[in-house]
Amino acid sequence: MSAEQYDIAIIGGGLVGASLACALEGFARDHHWSIAVIEAVPMPEDSEQDIPFQPSYDARSTALSWGARQIYQQMGLWSDLAPHAAAIKHIHVSDKGHLGATRLAASDHNVEALGYVAPNQGLGRVLLQGVKQAQHVSWLCPFKVTGFSVGAEQHTLQLSDERGAEKTLHAKLVVLADGGQSGLKEKLQIADQVRPYDQHALVCNLTMSEPHQNKAFERFTPEGPMAWLPLPQSNDIALVWTVPSEQVDEVMALDDDEFAQRLHKLFGYRLGGVERVGQRYQYPLNLVRASEQVRPGLVVLGNAAHYMHPVAGQGYNLALRGVAELAAVLDQAAQQQRSIADLTVLQEYLDRRQSDQDTVIGFSDGLIRLFANHNPMLGHLRAGGLMLLDQLKPAKRWFARQAMGLGGQAVRLKPIQGK
Ligand SMILES: Cc1cc2nc3c(=O)[nH]c(=O)nc-3n(C[C@H](O)[C@H](O)[C@H](O)COP(=O)(O)OP(=O)(O)OC[C@H]3O[C@@H](n4cnc5c(N)ncnc54)[C@H](O)[C@@H]3O)c2cc1C
Repeated sequence: MSAEQYDIAIIGGGLVGASLACALEGFARDHHWSIAVIEAVPMPEDSEQDIPFQPSYDARSTALSWGARQIYQQMGLWSDLAPHAAAIKHIHVSDKGHLGATRLAASDHNVEALGYVAPNQGLGRVLLQGVKQAQHVSWLCPFKVTGFSVGAEQHTLQLSDERGAEKTLHAKLVVLADGGQSGLKEKLQIADQVRPYDQHALVCNLTMSEPHQNKAFERFTPEGPMAWLPLPQSNDIALVWTVPSEQVDEVMALDDDEFAQRLHKLFGYRLGGVERVGQRYQYPLNLVRASEQVRPGLVVLGNAAHYMHPVAGQGYNLALRGVAELAAVLDQAAQQQRSIADLTVLQEYLDRRQSDQDTVIGFSDGLIRLFANHNPMLGHLRAGGLMLLDQLKPAKRWFARQAMGLGGQAVRLKPIQGK
């Protein structure tokens, strides 16, 4: 059996892997790159069909920052994505039981929206359409990468499909975008630094009696922080509620009325009453950082590189900035006739990403630690802090830039042909 040969192999066709394939496609024509995306979970051939829930394109919705919109715009995907997304025009941050609050408005920053909320299913559909339209990308699905041998000039991947049929593939550069759960990092002896939060994220969609008017709410409560995110339907909300792990089974078991009452107790009636509670899903939360993100011919990206608390809705936005930067660095290396697998090239990518990663991970982790503490003194300080943040222009501008995903360096991408 002859092995297939690629310049770049992306393991995982989830949000991050599919976005990277779309970002690379823009440069692939100039550099004659051949790219493979290997995805284990079957997806429909017809991109108009619903995607069956899988690890990336599941029941969640993702808050995309203004910066993420700019990246998708450069790839030529934003016009397809926009109909699936609701604009966030205002963000309201509050701490239950304390008076202080911070408000951000898109109009204060001369942007149409601070960010957008897109159901992962809609996001997935647009990304998969992009991948299928990309002429230099081979979509190998459903194929699971089961083996990885490191070579001096190229790496070798063993793939198997659901029926056990096998395939071998060689690639100069392999990008690990498998979400970090597949065991491939362990095979490569890339250790993770893990800090458990002892919390679960509970997500579900709600229909409210009053329209959300494109407002997002971040509410810190004694029963954990909750984000209420506007969805494209005017009265629909994507709820992300962080619950202590020992309470998650009890909250999941509440009937819909009890669940709605619990939400009202913590959030009030800012959006009227809960009229419908969608199916609830839970996700265990840890802070995970891979001890290495680059090696010769290897990059670790997305959840596989850093998995963080969703409190500030930053995990995917951070990963997408990594996607854009990696594509730009590889383009630059190819223009300079350098090998895209060279460690100095990949280290350059990581050096450019490090400070944004440290800031965003530190910010999300800091929020959780600050608001998880029930010391009343700290409660007053927090309230004062939120009030001060609301008043202090430079601090508020910094906070808004983080929320808008403008922490990284701007990079130039090229659209997929025909987009
Ligand atoms: C509750 C919750 C809410 C969130 N909300 C937000 C938000 O609002 N905003 C935000 O920016 N971020 C958010 N995030 C973070 C965001 O979900 C992640 O950043 C994103 O899912 C990362 O995608 P990924 O492609 O790296 O990994 P994954 O989503 O895990 O995808 C990995 C893919 O690889 C495939 N795969 C795995 N192993 C193999 C293998 N061996 N061979 C082939 N394929 C393989 C899987 O099938 C999957 O498709 C949230 C996270 C959680 C838990």
